Amino acid sequence: MRATVMHKARDVRIEDVPDAAIRNTTDAVIRITRACICGSDLWPYNGGPNVNGQGMGHEAIGVVEEIGSDVQRIRRGQVVIMPFAYSDGSCLFCDEGLQTACVHGGFFGNGGEAGGAQAEALRIPHADGTLYPLAVGEDDALMPSLLTLSDVMGTGHHAAVTARVRRGGTVAVVGDGAVGLCGVIAAKRLGAEQIILLGRHADRIALAREFGATDVVSVRGMEAVERVRELTGGLGVQSVLECVGTEQAIDTSMGIVRAGGAVGRVGVPHYDVLPGAQPMFYRNVVVAGGPAPVRAYIDELLTDVMEGGIEPGRVFDRTAGLDGVPDGYRAMNEREALKVLIRP
Ligand SMILES: [Zn+2]
Repeated sequence: MRATVMHKARDVRIEDVPDAAIRNTTDAVIRITRACICGSDLWPYNGGPNVNGQGMGHEAIGVVEEIGSDVQRIRRGQVVIMPFAYSDGSCLFCDEGLQTACVHGGFFGNGGEAGGAQAEALRIPHADGTLYPLAVGEDDALMPSLLTLSDVMGTGHHAAVTARVRRGGTVAVVGDGAVGLCGVIAAKRLGAEQIILLGRHADRIALAREFGATDVVSVRGMEAVERVRELTGGLGVQSVLECVGTEQAIDTSMGIVRAGGAVGRVGVPHYDVLPGAQPMFYRNVVVAGGPAPVRAYIDELLTDVMEGGIEPGRVFDRTAGLDGVPDGYRAMNEREALKVLIRP
């Protein structure tokens, strides 16, 4: 079968690899019908942590082709969402809705035991716990939005939940990538009254406004902090959704959160030390977040997607086949594309 393999920075290739196959009795194999490229895939692409020859991709929808002998709930032929983390669905963390901490869990497409989803097919560990069956056909018109439930929409929602977004509240979203834009959707959905987007790309800002952003701040650093304070009566916002992960993004987040507020971090941190320990203490600021348990959020978000209440699939602005994946990485890296949808 064909799959996306990253050999080293800037070296992404489509290659023939061994077919995905059942390895454990709790596995399934899915034929990938939709996948995509994530902003976090650009980290190894740009020389970040990189496993030589790693299979890429952690977001997908597919059709179940094979199941292991101990798979009970998932059946052949089902159309399923594959969250970016696999989980057994039965441990204490899965019970708590924190599947990204599952004691038997792990992540797709990061060079670990599980392969990558930018491929024709993929082995799914712990199929019963991991996969989420859908009641739609494999080419349903809602596929782009359904696909975002495998990561970016659930991740934006996690940023909003951990930043304690509340009805009537004030929110800032740091970052105008696909997760930041989904964070705007999530904040609006949870009833925020003021949603300030910190971003610099005109097309993304326009989409953010359609998703519910009420204000936009396009300057950076201290200027951004001052501007957000001006927009909030000098106080800062109650909730900050940090959707980038750079040192500057967390610095800005700590500068714009108000006393008693919360910062929800979903950008993979590129920094080792959290800034602002002293003001964080004296101003009672909560810092939370981490890898989103998107599996737990599908129940809640799926209804809104199916009813058209939210349209996170609008973050996709380009579609490619597997052959177009290497150029998709380039296009996203050069900010020519926001998010690339893949139809293997
Ligand atoms: Zn578990």
